[in-house]
Amino acid sequence: MNNEKGLIFACDLQDREKAIEITKKVKKYIDGVKVNYPLILSSDINIISKLSRYAPVISDFKIADVPHINKIICKKAFENGAQGVISHSFLGKKSLEVCREVADSYNSELFSVVEMSHSGAEKFIHPKVDDLCELSKKVGVDGVIAPGNDAKRLRKVRNLLGKNLDILSPGVGFQGGEVENALEAGANFIIVGRKIYRSNKPKEVAKELKDKINNF
Ligand code: C5P
Repeated sequence: MNNEKGLIFACDLQDREKAIEITKKVKKYIDGVKVNYPLILSSDINIISKLSRYAPVISDFKIADVPHINKIICKKAFENGAQGVISHSFLGKKSLEVCREVADSYNSELFSVVEMSHSGAEKFIHPKVDDLCELSKKVGVDGVIAPGNDAKRLRKVRNLLGKNLDILSPGVGFQGGEVENALEAGANFIIVGRKIYRSNKPKEVAKELKDKINNF
């Protein structure tokens, strides 16, 4: 991503027109729009190219399959106009490497999930965060996803990664996180969904978030 820090809109709406309408409203304040299964499965993959008119689209497929399937998923995202994809990293080197290769061939970006904050992460993700960060660095991802509502874990990820990689952090707003705490702990892009799209004033909320990020 071009900026040092910024705001990414998690467009998890299930209504295509509403998703477009809100993205248009907030486009001035966002550095990217993240598209996840709720929107794609409720509309179709062309929503990526549609939204990319307003902001760079990151396809959050949390890719987690064998390499040849990962390759197809990445290609579909980039062919449809995505500028970045999010993959899980726990599937190992080959599965993540193939995403890097496809992203490179489209001159696009790859992000990997290395940490999560929900209770289920305790057993399977938290104990492996060192390995997942090391693998992500080795493969050469552009950035990672780590929770903005868990400063301790986020700080650990920043320490493991060093300064050069982006950290994109969800968890601000409805999941209890605050912009300043997430930035302080090491995030540089803040991902926000419901706080924006469930508001009656999405533009104002996005502006407020963006101002907080810029003024940090
Ligand atoms: O609505 P809210 O701001 O909580 O949305 C958070 C977004 O970030 C969702 O799209 C969700 O899939 C994503 N996400 C998350 N926690 C992670 C990784 C991604 O909430 N660890």
